[in-house]
Amino acid sequence: ALEIRGATKAFGDKPVLRGIDLDVARGSVTVILGPSGSGKSTLLRAINHLEKLDQGFVRVAGELIGVKVKGDRFVELHERDILTQRSRIGFVFQAFNLFPHLTILENVTEAPISLARDVAESREKALILLDRVGLADKAAAYPRQLSGGQQQRVAIARALVLEPELILFDEPTSALDPELVREVLDVISGLAGTGTTLVVVTHEIGFAREVADRVVFMDEGVIVEQGTPAEIFDTPSHPRTREFLSRVL
Ligand code: ATP
Ligand code: MG
Repeated sequence: ALEIRGATKAFGDKPVLRGIDLDVARGSVTVILGPSGSGKSTLLRAINHLEKLDQGFVRVAGELIGVKVKGDRFVELHERDILTQRSRIGFVFQAFNLFPHLTILENVTEAPISLARDVAESREKALILLDRVGLADKAAAYPRQLSGGQQQRVAIARALVLEPELILFDEPTSALDPELVREVLDVISGLAGTGTTLVVVTHEIGFAREVADRVVFMDEGVIVEQGTPAEIFDTPSHPRTREFLSRVL
């Protein structure tokens, strides 16, 4: 579903991604771990072309993201085409990023309606998704009336409404009070095995162990090692992985 090859990115003279190759199977769950500053968010942002790579490319469902091949080089797609591609990739951020002046239902229907999808159908679908994340009764409320965990579940419903084949989560629970983390992780776990491909940056090791098919450990802009949860958590082969895990476990 997702293919990253040779992803390289520097900010000024500071290399942040130093040649990332990653394959994510359709419908699978991949957890990305790594210390602060290792390039995890930059990599996620590069997947939907919120960050432009200096070298390398990203393919989602076989399609190059953000660029097309012209002769022997990549050229940037038109903004409109990038937005179309982005509409097929869900993104859930650390900060919930809901529109404060829109109701919960309107937050979820904003994208499909702005893409000229049928309004009644979009509302119906949004209500089904709000029910799925346990918030059907909050449709008419405003974000400020919801807890952080509830707001993040709305953000997940919003990411699902366009039926993306891939959803990216960037530390979806790290801004939440501890008692609200579980409800959000449970919603994400519920998406596993439904056909949608999930890539989740998180430090929630218990979640990774239970839900991930693959765990990827990044440090200083490279993938140091990747494997099944058992391989990474029980028998990490790289000293940097062991050192990181000893701090977070
Ligand atoms: P964290 O766990 O703290 O979220 P991360 O692994 O997500 O860290 P990134 O946010 O990808 O790390 O950042 C990697 C490096 O790139 C950091 O040193 C950061 O300061 C730098 N960086 C990120 N975005 C920019 C930017 N727009 N301009 C300059 N430097 C940036
Ligand atoms: Mg980050």
